[in-house]
Amino acid sequence: MIYASLISLVAMSCTGGFVHLVTYSLLPPPEYAFAMLLAVGLPLIIAFPISILALRIVKIITDAVERIETFVKFDALTGVLARSYFIETARQRFAEGGALLLIDADHFKRINDTHGHDVGDEALKVIGSTLSRTVPLEGLVGRIGGEEFAVFLPGVAHTEAHRVAAAICAEMRRSGKVVAGKPLEMTLSIGLALVEPGSTVAIILKRADDGLYLAKAEGRDRVVQIHP
Ligand code: GH3
Ligand code: MG
Ligand code: MG
Repeated sequence: MIYASLISLVAMSCTGGFVHLVTYSLLPPPEYAFAMLLAVGLPLIIAFPISILALRIVKIITDAVERIETFVKFDALTGVLARSYFIETARQRFAEGGALLLIDADHFKRINDTHGHDVGDEALKVIGSTLSRTVPLEGLVGRIGGEEFAVFLPGVAHTEAHRVAAAICAEMRRSGKVVAGKPLEMTLSIGLALVEPGSTVAIILKRADDGLYLAKAEGRDRVVQIHP
């Protein structure tokens, strides 16, 4: 409303000023007054509703873009980053080095089979929140697919990467004991790969995936790093 009034005021001042300059010395007072009435009144009648409509359209478009951005950036169920956005953001920060953790829920199928899909969904939300609060602020947390998540820790070295990965496992054991009133005793397996200069996301994801495979094979609920 304020912006629409301002736009109308500017339109009225412009046309009013222009008509005043052109007609003041040429027209007798009654015609001058009539010309000025039109110069000020017409923009008020036209500019005010049109600017309200235009501003409303801009608001609708801005809201829609925001909603699309949220949809593209975040996983709807868990609230962590969506796969493609996670990978793209990690790619942009790969030059800083760091570590990539590929994280998979252990025996997740059992949860669905035993307690139903809704409890499975609640369990996925708990994994998302557990990762989000355990990973340092500058880290990225994404859902790669199904019950598989990933964390990128930009700029961290070996020791810090292992500290965070171990903290994730420990926090999951605590927060995943009981979910939605069910004794789930959730655990996570983690494959860890350090980013060296020149390595691509695809190479590091593959290395982390190999680590995850070993973590499963060695008994789950653990972190395995694959060295280049
Ligand atoms: P492992 O320890 O070897 O990883 O065993 P797992 O049971 O976790 O692995 P598996 O790949 O056999 O099963 C994954 C299950 O995750 C199967 C699938 O139904 C479930 N899942 C994937 N996405 C979702 C989801 O969005 N919601 C729910 N509730 N379940 C999901
Ligand atoms: Mg699994
Ligand atoms: Mg899996």
